Amino acid sequence: MFEPTLAGSLPKPAWLAETHKLWPQWKSTGADLQAAKADATLLWLKLQEDAGLATVGDGEQSRQHFVHGFLEAVEGIDFENKVKMGIRNNRYDAMVPQVTGELRLRGRVHQTEAKLARAHTTRKLKFTLPGPMTIVDTVADRFYGDKVKMAMAFAALLNQEALALQADGVDVIQFDEPAFNVFMDDVTDWGVAALERAIQGLTCTTAVHICYGYGIAANVDWKKTLGDEWRQYEKIFPALAASRIDQVSLECAGSQVPPSLMALLGGKDVLVGVIDVASDTVETPEEVADTIGRALRYVPANRLFPCTNCGMAPMDQDIARRKLQALARGAQIARERYAAAPAQPST
Ligand code: ZN
Repeated sequence: MFEPTLAGSLPKPAWLAETHKLWPQWKSTGADLQAAKADATLLWLKLQEDAGLATVGDGEQSRQHFVHGFLEAVEGIDFENKVKMGIRNNRYDAMVPQVTGELRLRGRVHQTEAKLARAHTTRKLKFTLPGPMTIVDTVADRFYGDKVKMAMAFAALLNQEALALQADGVDVIQFDEPAFNVFMDDVTDWGVAALERAIQGLTCTTAVHICYGYGIAANVDWKKTLGDEWRQYEKIFPALAASRIDQVSLECAGSQVPPSLMALLGGKDVLVGVIDVASDTVETPEEVADTIGRALRYVPANRLFPCTNCGMAPMDQDIARRKLQALARGAQIARERYAAAPAQPST
């Protein structure tokens, strides 16, 4: 009950890449960089295990950014000539690569880090990939001319890599879809269909992560415009509840999301965000347990997995490590607090 896990990314050590950045520059190249990525992956596996997470990940130490890390392995994308584009409905500008031809995988994307992580942990291993809708919102299309067609092309490639990750021994494959919270109508029109194309044939656990983004200034400002209650999930959860996806990772701690919206995910595992990644204040384990308690009113205990609200890539490394500890300790307190109490003797 209440097995703690994480959304995905973790901060990169200063010897691997620039710190506190969403698109950091690597500190080395070639074989040195490959070795540094592997070292950072092993370091974070150890720290996640020490913190007490039941499901661990590679912390996305081998990719510069959660979307572009995948795109770098795709043929038909011009990475040399990035263009400035407003993403997430123009919430902020990003330098994005251009799709210039038929999309095809050059080969494996995450085999090295997946096999490395699998060889060094006996815990459940989760791997994240960007979702098709979020990819489409983070590239400039100069070839397909049709968003849905391009999303389905990406979904086929994601599926190819996901099946290979499953063969590598990965237990949970999660697709990150922050764009689901921005283009809600598209989610029901084609977003869920693209997601289901990406998980086609998978027998491992499948998940989708939908959040309000990293704790960067553009996101903090955007959240201020969303009002007292953030009800985006209300529009998309029914479609996800009806889908073949096993788990939904969502934001809860420190947000204005009404916890009651989790009730719309009947039949799914719910990865409840109990750690706020937009704040450097480390939650106390008691606060984490309280958040789990709030979610427990709407999610059955056996389907509730305490998690981080989102990735922690731009965060300070030590703060992230302490937040993971608070997450696992809070889950432990919640187990003690909310487990069915044994019958009390009458005398
Ligand atoms: Zn997120």
